[in-house]
Amino acid sequence: MMDVSNSFQIQQTIADPLSIKGIGLHTGINISMQLYPAEANYGIKFIRKDLYNNNIIEALWSNVTNTKLSTTISNKNGASVSTIEHLMSALSGLHIDNIKIEIDGPEVPIMDGSSIKFVDLIDKTSIKSLNKKRKILKVKKNIKIEKNDTSVELKPNNQFSIDFEIDFPSKLVSQQSCHLQLVNGNYKTDIASARTFGFEKDVDMLRSNGLALGGSLDNAVVVGESKILNSDGLRFKDEFVRHKILDSIGDLYLAGAPIQGYFLGNKSGHHLNNLLLRSLFADKNNYEYI
Ligand SMILES: [Zn+2]
Repeated sequence: MMDVSNSFQIQQTIADPLSIKGIGLHTGINISMQLYPAEANYGIKFIRKDLYNNNIIEALWSNVTNTKLSTTISNKNGASVSTIEHLMSALSGLHIDNIKIEIDGPEVPIMDGSSIKFVDLIDKTSIKSLNKKRKILKVKKNIKIEKNDTSVELKPNNQFSIDFEIDFPSKLVSQQSCHLQLVNGNYKTDIASARTFGFEKDVDMLRSNGLALGGSLDNAVVVGESKILNSDGLRFKDEFVRHKILDSIGDLYLAGAPIQGYFLGNKSGHHLNNLLLRSLFADKNNYEYI
């Protein structure tokens, strides 16, 4: 059993190495990943095992190079890893500060389209406390990014909480909103199993653009004209907005530290999440480490 109850002050890693395999959502190729414990202040780093040089990519907002449908990070030499957001979300939700992730391809496996397989994987070992204090990023000023009718915002708050609102032109998804405070391990029960989703009408367009090549009803909720195409239906009535929260938690963890602040997302996604972090870090008066 993992204990996240009194884990807010001390840095953590995993106790033992773990491994997982799966298909890449966008590339459609088989990928395997090994997760290793790491020392205090190591952070989160991906190592591309299929590349021999310059293959380390740090999971940081400043390394984000693509936000089209997923979040991609790259190092200075152009080595990249895409679709990192669900794994990053699991690491944030379980309060893992330091971990080394070896991967043998360019994309994190999509698993079932949520982060529950990563949570279950980490649950197979225990979480290990390291002998160092965790630094927490405290938001000191309101930061807001707006684009057309979408927006993201960070506000000072005494804990990390999220408000998210979506509004899709589909009667099956339409308007959903959700408020969440990450406390007492509720990430696992309320967020981790919410799957990514797409619309049946977009599938051909995505595939002809070389995207979603590994996508299927096994790793995404597919919304048709009049019904959900997955035979088991939805896992939550508001699974769509919960998944947007899952994504945002993952993207925000690229801050390099847990955030103490109030995040508000309105019809937003990976692109605005990254612009928000860039704007946060653009001015030292916006934040402090506590
Ligand atoms: Zn997602």
